[in-house]
Amino acid sequence: MFLTELLKFHKKCSHHNVMPNVEQAYCPDCGKLIKNDWYITRCACCGMKLKTISKNGKIIPQSHYCTNCGSDSFVVEKLEALSFIDINFAVLVKNVIEEEHRIPTMTMCWAERKCEQPKLLIQSL
Ligand SMILES: [Zn+2]
Ligand SMILES: [Zn+2]
Repeated sequence: MFLTELLKFHKKCSHHNVMPNVEQAYCPDCGKLIKNDWYITRCACCGMKLKTISKNGKIIPQSHYCTNCGSDSFVVEKLEALSFIDINFAVLVKNVIEEEHRIPTMTMCWAERKCEQPKLLIQSL
């Protein structure tokens, strides 16, 4: 039981508990702020929408060649709003938003102050 918990902790969180219907939310499993971004790919040649998948963190069309013109080049487009038509083509990417104004900044301030202290001492000598 304990070991599995430990393994879970070390495993990279896939944030699968973040609902896809919200723009952004905190992941209940790792506490990071997650932004849901939708992407589609289009054929670079004829502009037809292609069924999109994400593989090894890359956004690519599911099929290698465009069924309309046979081209293998494509462009990735980020969708600002997801429409019902696009949902069949789009892929959801859960991006972590690194929050700069949370606790990490506080720790940085402390570290800086600690570094300043000896410098000031040297100057006064
Ligand atoms: Zn997570
Ligand atoms: Zn095409």
